[in-house]
Amino acid sequence: MVTYEQFAANCDAVRQRIKSACDQCGRNPSEVRILPVTKTNPVEAALYAYRYGMRSVSENKVQEGQEKKPLAPTDLRWEFIGHLQSNKVKPALKIFDIIQTVDSVDLILRVGRIAEELNVKPEIYFQVNSGHDPAKFGCEIEEAPLLLEAALGQSALRVVGLMAVPPIEGGMDSAKHTFDNLRICRDELEDKFKVKLPELSMGMSGDLEAAVIAGSTCVRLGSSLYGPRTQK
Ligand SMILES: *Cc1c(COP(=O)(O)O)cnc(C)c1O
Repeated sequence: MVTYEQFAANCDAVRQRIKSACDQCGRNPSEVRILPVTKTNPVEAALYAYRYGMRSVSENKVQEGQEKKPLAPTDLRWEFIGHLQSNKVKPALKIFDIIQTVDSVDLILRVGRIAEELNVKPEIYFQVNSGHDPAKFGCEIEEAPLLLEAALGQSALRVVGLMAVPPIEGGMDSAKHTFDNLRICRDELEDKFKVKLPELSMGMSGDLEAAVIAGSTCVRLGSSLYGPRTQK
């Protein structure tokens, strides 16, 4: 992994990229938060983010969160961005304050019930397969209203927005489509249900500019902050 000095320089560079993208579309950079993706890196990755002033990090495996969170400051929030298996919901809710990848009605009911049991109120994002990637998790755009209807009936859940991952092989055009579709999906849900879904978690190291231009409020960054990963 990189040193803290390299990490801080990488953060500065990424903030500059976000600022340039915001300048292009008239947005305020303060609307876009950087969510460091600490997966596969040791807990120092999370400590770097904390030292830089960030107060959230993310993992795609429940177990990595379980290992690292006890070693980190208690006011650092952990967000889950991986596929959530139903048998991992309880351990996930004990570690993660935010679950970005809820993608079915069944999962909503389960997360809602277990959150109530544990007396926690997680923030929820729906993962939407807005890039129509057959290999990706996420609900279909057409299913999103059913998910929202189910989530609004769960008093322990606070749905704050949507999340998407573009097709890996699709290139920039398909990434842009994925992002635009996610924003449209969000706008339609807000209209139909008269609720606010302010968060759009989209954009990674390679495509953050397109995501910011499409309306991202949260870019999930791994390799641009910590250097290339050796594993997935
Ligand atoms: C790994 C991962 C990222 C970060 O990817 P980079 O290209 O390294 O920035 C973002 N989102 C999800 C869901 C991931 O699994």
